[in-house]
Amino acid sequence: MIASETHAIVLKPGREKPVRQRHPWLFSGAIRRIPDELENGEIAQVATHDGVVLAQGYLNRQSQIQVRLLSWDPQEPIDDAFWRRRLEVSLALRAALPDLAGCTALRLVNAENDYLPGLTVDRYGDYLVLQAGTLGIDRRKVRLAEMLLELTGCRGVVERSDMAARRQEGLSPASGILAGEAPPPRIEITESGARFYVDLLAGQKTGFYADQRQNRQRVAAYCGGRQVLNAFSYTGAFAVFALHSGAAHVTNLDSSVDVLTAAEANLRLNGFDPDSQTENIAGDIFTILRDWQHQPERRYDLVILDPPKFATSQSTVERALRGYKDINRLAIQLLRPGGILATFSCSGLVGPGLFQKVVFSAAADAGRDLQILERLTQSADHPVALSFPEGEYLKGLLCRATK
Ligand code: SAH
Repeated sequence: MIASETHAIVLKPGREKPVRQRHPWLFSGAIRRIPDELENGEIAQVATHDGVVLAQGYLNRQSQIQVRLLSWDPQEPIDDAFWRRRLEVSLALRAALPDLAGCTALRLVNAENDYLPGLTVDRYGDYLVLQAGTLGIDRRKVRLAEMLLELTGCRGVVERSDMAARRQEGLSPASGILAGEAPPPRIEITESGARFYVDLLAGQKTGFYADQRQNRQRVAAYCGGRQVLNAFSYTGAFAVFALHSGAAHVTNLDSSVDVLTAAEANLRLNGFDPDSQTENIAGDIFTILRDWQHQPERRYDLVILDPPKFATSQSTVERALRGYKDINRLAIQLLRPGGILATFSCSGLVGPGLFQKVVFSAAADAGRDLQILERLTQSADHPVALSFPEGEYLKGLLCRATK
């Protein structure tokens, strides 16, 4: 199809390959011309310099990613029916996934990876949490929330668009009820037979890390009879599964007193006694692990390291790598011989190969030999579109210290 030249966003010559290969992002460097009359947030055709329409997407001149592509069919109207179809496909995938029986917390829409750039939707029981990461989605979020309610039969959609990435789109944080009813302050979800409280509205951090679902099972499988250190514990999900698998004791560490209180409630909800079966310590992990180097009684059979995203932009990658190396070295030094390290990074900018190198150099500095037993990644309700390698963010290594 040939573009009606005036309305299409025109690519520079030689920049069409990623678009043809269905990468969903267009940076300013690839664009020759954006029609003046196009408003930010609007949908437009994207054409080659010689007028062939390749795709359609929404525009935001304020973002580094000026266009996010939605469709590679030049004719397809991007109307309510389009959005509904995309949501239906995304929901159908989850319904078809194995291992989700008995899980009421899951990601229903994984943005670019579900061909819905900028839109993230999580389900928690009968409520949905929507994150609008871009202007194009922000403008349409109420309509999308209404469609999601219809399609899922849920009771309400909460917005938690408080991620830093919105600033790069010229948007400020937004939260509230987008459609339906407000959830109660605390709802209960289940994951693989365990129960957890989740607070969708309040709290410094809300929700639940469903991306670690299968990894909690993998790690728990090694926990029987072991003394476990759960660093960056959040609300104790790894701890609950460790105890379900017969861990002798779990030490939870987190900088937030609130999440540790929530972890204790979750332990009780699952029939465990936080006082005798766990220890819950608030503080900075870098400081605490460093102090424990000198305390020989602080040695563990299994250490879990699940830090927040250290690398938030290219300019922070170096510092992030030093952070990952530090905590991994400190953790490895606390491992008993034969001990297991389950170490994660959710920084998309640090790929699996680089992360493995960091863990290796941490082990080398600690003077310990580690073997990789399992490589871990995000669970299948957080799929990665092959055309969008940026979608792979969570990686983990399950290692054994041979001495
Ligand atoms: N493993 C958890 C998720 C961890 S989220 C789960 O499966 O649910 C990361 C956590 O790290 C947050 O709870 C945050 O409060 C905590 N955190 C961030 N920086 C920290 C630091 N320097 N020391 C201790 N905890 C920290």
